[in-house]
Amino acid sequence: MDLKKFVTIVEDWPKPGIKFKDITTLMDNGEAYRYATDRIVDYAKQRNIDIVVGPEARGFIIGCPVAYSLGVGFAPVRKEGKLPRETVKVNYGLEYGSDVLTIHKDAIKPGQRVLITDDLLATGGTIDATIKLVEQLGGVVAGIAFLIELTYLDGRNKLDGYDILTLMEY
Ligand code: 5GP
Repeated sequence: MDLKKFVTIVEDWPKPGIKFKDITTLMDNGEAYRYATDRIVDYAKQRNIDIVVGPEARGFIIGCPVAYSLGVGFAPVRKEGKLPRETVKVNYGLEYGSDVLTIHKDAIKPGQRVLITDDLLATGGTIDATIKLVEQLGGVVAGIAFLIELTYLDGRNKLDGYDILTLMEY
């Protein structure tokens, strides 16, 4: 299936000059959403995954159906102040300034094999921060899966040494 047919390119959003890849038109098509999910599930099955981890909010959209299909858990990574119990945190750089991502301290047990999911790999900052959280808890990043990779931003370079699946490239 040509998944790109289901991605809508929105010009000049959220700011002038950006061509935003809108994946909601992939998600709201049952066949396309299932096809994309199943490809990530196939990838995960070859990597003995114990738990799926994804950053808010679109990492949940990709990761939760994969976790359900594998029969494993899902642990959310969230912005600071959103998770109710004890967390570990990491600062990460944004285009302007920085932000903090957190995960519950007991979300991952040492040695667990983790699949990280998100919708899109741009500079790699979000997933680099997510990897740091997983590794702080002793998790092993066994794979990272995205729907989309913006190859011209070279995020893959930042994630050097990790096993990465992307279903579409721009
Ligand atoms: P990075 O941290 O790799 O620079 O940026 C990736 C994050 O920004 C992802 O969590 C993703 O949801 C969001 N993002 C950046 N650009 C786009 C885009 O064009 N489309 C979508 N759907 N998400 C984007």
